[in-house]
Amino acid sequence: MNKYKEIANIIFPNINQTVNDLEIKYPPRDLSEDAIVTRFAPSPTGFLHTGSLFTSLVSWRFAKQTNGVFFLRLEDTDQKREIKGSGDKVIEQLIKFNINPDESFLNEGNYGPYIQSERKLIYHTVIKEMIENGMAYPCFCTHEELNDIRKEQEEKKDLPGYYHEYAKCRYFSDDEVIEKLNNKEDFVIRFKSQGKNDEKVVLNDAIRGDIEFPKNIQDIVIMKSDGLPTYHFAHVVDDHFMRTTHVTRGEEWMPSAPIHLEIFEQLNWKKPVFCHFPVIMKMDGDKKRKLSKRKDDEASVDFFLEKGYPIEGFLEYLMTLANSNFEEWRLNNSKSNIFDFNLDFSKMSLDGALFDIEKVKSICKEVLGNMDKDTFTNNALQYAKEFNIDLFNLIKKDENYFKEIINIEREQEKPRKDYEKYSDILPIINFMYDDYFSDMKFNVEYDERFSKDLLIEILSDYKQVFDINKSQEEWFSDMREMAINKGFAKRPKDYKKNPDEYIGHIGDFAEILRLATCAKSSTPNFYDVLRILGQNKVKNRLNEAIELLKK
Ligand code: GLU
Repeated sequence: MNKYKEIANIIFPNINQTVNDLEIKYPPRDLSEDAIVTRFAPSPTGFLHTGSLFTSLVSWRFAKQTNGVFFLRLEDTDQKREIKGSGDKVIEQLIKFNINPDESFLNEGNYGPYIQSERKLIYHTVIKEMIENGMAYPCFCTHEELNDIRKEQEEKKDLPGYYHEYAKCRYFSDDEVIEKLNNKEDFVIRFKSQGKNDEKVVLNDAIRGDIEFPKNIQDIVIMKSDGLPTYHFAHVVDDHFMRTTHVTRGEEWMPSAPIHLEIFEQLNWKKPVFCHFPVIMKMDGDKKRKLSKRKDDEASVDFFLEKGYPIEGFLEYLMTLANSNFEEWRLNNSKSNIFDFNLDFSKMSLDGALFDIEKVKSICKEVLGNMDKDTFTNNALQYAKEFNIDLFNLIKKDENYFKEIINIEREQEKPRKDYEKYSDILPIINFMYDDYFSDMKFNVEYDERFSKDLLIEILSDYKQVFDINKSQEEWFSDMREMAINKGFAKRPKDYKKNPDEYIGHIGDFAEILRLATCAKSSTPNFYDVLRILGQNKVKNRLNEAIELLKK
């Protein structure tokens, strides 16, 4: 009789529960048959990568659109690489994008713990039973021994790894193993692969279809010497007992899928559906490469949060990367919630999705332009509170005044699209506030074509006729009349045709007034700007401009 049970007991003397107990503790979820259970499984090794946000967005949508469950599991078994606090930060960032896991270490469901390092008991229970059944064994190889194996394989030009005849510890007798354990020799636990050379296995990927791989033959490590599992093993155990139906992960995991398939098979567990998402790429010159945290600001979602890109816009952009037919749907459903669109695995692109910052910008401009003033203001406040205290104070000083400003040509059929992100607000509207204008006015530079005397004359005369109580048409025709009287062309094209006949055109004239009253040559709709500033303030600013010109 083999002594697997004895070996298992020496290694795990305190494990009394069985795999069957776990099956009972974590029963299949009570969901409809087509409900999808997905997870986002970040390792706490840094902040949320744009690619991970993409993966979690898509995973979350698949769960939500089928009334399923989306949960977050923190994969912290590689404790050497762990950056303290980054697990909390990742979930915080996810929630900022309104992606709220149904279950996580912050809101535990029935399938926890949701942090791998707290799931040791579960892994050990499974491993103990695997040892008892001859599916796993302790390996005592030292670094030197493993190095020797590698060298031998290099010389013989054999496949590297721990397998078949190279898997030395697989061939120890039970008594030898027991002796080594009793002598407290260091060990890891390896999976006993049944794979043979030249056998094939097929991965049914929901995105990529059936893909044939050589079967796994490696006796991979499933438990490290610190008692923690490796990714390959933890993934199988967790996704089984957390009842994940669809494993949604980056395509970099595809080559190791044969390992996972074999573990699922040997344990006789139902395999989840695998969905290997495309990696997000970027053009670097004329070459495509992975979006890299080291090289690209836009690889970290922090970049978008700090700059204040609207969450809705950024998610909409990621939806365009997710499904090739999303944009067409959007054209026909521009007023709908983007999540009314049903994602489809078969419509996901297979090669790396190309990240296009210009497209992010244009979608965000569209989204911010279409936002009503109250939502815009609330979002801007929320952004400013965290990232831009000056903007926060400005808005808080007089929220209604702020709303009036940002509502210029908003809330209408074809809204104006001035803002691409919340950090644009301050530089665009600062001149509306005297605190800023009082400094800005000193830096105004008028077009050199116009003499100081002419400028003073124009501003003084304009001050007399300016009346903000008039309609925009009347206000404009007053301005045009004065411009014509002063020798400016009525239309830019008239000026272009006969530049010698005029001193400038209506646009030049308006620019003089704009510089005097706003200290800028371009602003949101000028009439609205003047209306919001009000009769007195405009006259004061004209006076101040005249004074400055006189100096
Ligand atoms: N912890 C793994 C990673 O961060 C998760 C892979 C998976 O989703 O299974 O890449």
